Amino acid sequence: MTARVPVPCNGCVACCRNELVVLYPEHGDDLTLEHDKVDTPHGPLHVLKQRENGDCFYLGPQGCTIHDRAPAICKVFDCRRYFLSMPRAERRQLAQRNGAKIGIFEAGHARLTSLTDEERREAINQRSMTRAVAISDRQWLRKTAGL
Ligand code: SF4
Ligand code: SF4
Repeated sequence: MTARVPVPCNGCVACCRNELVVLYPEHGDDLTLEHDKVDTPHGPLHVLKQRENGDCFYLGPQGCTIHDRAPAICKVFDCRRYFLSMPRAERRQLAQRNGAKIGIFEAGHARLTSLTDEERREAINQRSMTRAVAISDRQWLRKTAGL
């Protein structure tokens, strides 16, 4: 099972809204979770269901309702490292294209002090987060599959 990255979320749910969460069975994701199968030129993708308002199907009043069963992408996403993984101009561009990202960048920025200097340096030098990649995938998905 994918280990959860210890981000001090403290009630924030910014990344559970208006994001397409792709399921990766090869990373242990549970395909019995409510999801849509989306055909793309590169094969089918499984995308967690969203409510009409864009909230994740599994987002409850107290946050995620499937904590340990949450997709790998949710467990490894770290908005602090995501914030640091791109320069300001790129963040701004992304936020202009997808306003939902602003909340995630703000959440990441507000929590930077919970990373050590070393961790911050690493994050700046290495754009490696699985979910960051997946977020790009989702932009591609939106375009390709009209989501
Ligand atoms: S945006 Fe950051 S702080 Fe907010 S829920 Fe996601 S990981 Fe946690
Ligand atoms: S599965 Fe849980 S952590 Fe993942 S987006 Fe949905 S509510 Fe958030």
